[in-house]
Amino acid sequence: MEKTKSADPYSPCMLCPRRCGADRTHGITGFCKATAEVTVNLSMIHRGEEPVLGGEGGCGAVFFEGCSLRCIFCQNHEITSVTGKGTSYDEKSLAELFLKLSDEGAGAIDLVTPMHFAPTVANAVKAAKDEGLKVPVICNCSGYETVSTLKLFDGLVDIYLPDLKYFSPKVSAKYANAPDYFGTACLALDEMYRQTGSFVLENGIMKRGMIVRHMMLPGNLFDSKHILDYLVSRFGDSIFISLMSQYTPMPHILENEKAPEELRRPLSQDNYERLCDYLAELGQTNAFVQETGASGTLMIPDFNT
Ligand code: SF4
Repeated sequence: MEKTKSADPYSPCMLCPRRCGADRTHGITGFCKATAEVTVNLSMIHRGEEPVLGGEGGCGAVFFEGCSLRCIFCQNHEITSVTGKGTSYDEKSLAELFLKLSDEGAGAIDLVTPMHFAPTVANAVKAAKDEGLKVPVICNCSGYETVSTLKLFDGLVDIYLPDLKYFSPKVSAKYANAPDYFGTACLALDEMYRQTGSFVLENGIMKRGMIVRHMMLPGNLFDSKHILDYLVSRFGDSIFISLMSQYTPMPHILENEKAPEELRRPLSQDNYERLCDYLAELGQTNAFVQETGASGTLMIPDFNT
């Protein structure tokens, strides 16, 4: 007998590649640490995103609690692995939050790690657009997504801002318990690009398109080079590549004696510069790099903990 699809996307939950089947509607949390109750830890005007995002008004960032990837070194660990500190939202109140941020001058709505709440968030984006939201909507996510969940955002998200974090299955297994990360993320990025197409800038501000982030990790230069090889050969200058140097060993890593040694130290600036040079040698023109000294907790918002 064929299994019929559940009418409730949160029970059993198969929204992300973990497909852990948690009964989130009845208060059970999955690997992502989230029930079906959408919680936002923080919403704010954020001026730290790539310079083509948001313009002078900045981005109206909405930080969701929980995450389906949960890398061990997460820079937002306080809200991705520890949930229940934020405010609950339903579709209507979430749409109102997007409209409020836009009214306050945000040049874009920046959904940060929304994918494990995708059904609710997608409906909220639709409701906000129906109510007159005009600024682009950005989906800022880990890259570890299913194509079927991404399709919920088709026609609603204007800009995808995914990470492409790991190439080697050994590395992604070690840091995120996700040996399938690279293959899964490649399919996800293809779907994101199918939805947005090549980027569109108006007066230097992105209205549509994709920016792929890669945060270099200490001791992983070769993994990072493979990531750049892939992005340049697959998408080239039809997307932007954002190469980040802001890796910071967070307290939960420094206090964990079992954490991989390489993650307990900051990124070598020399290695980061070598990677920037490598990206230039590959011929990529549309790229962002970070200035020396971008690492450190100043880059991390002050979450509700
Ligand atoms: S979104 Fe969460 S509950 Fe759903 S499959 Fe992924 S980890 Fe499990």
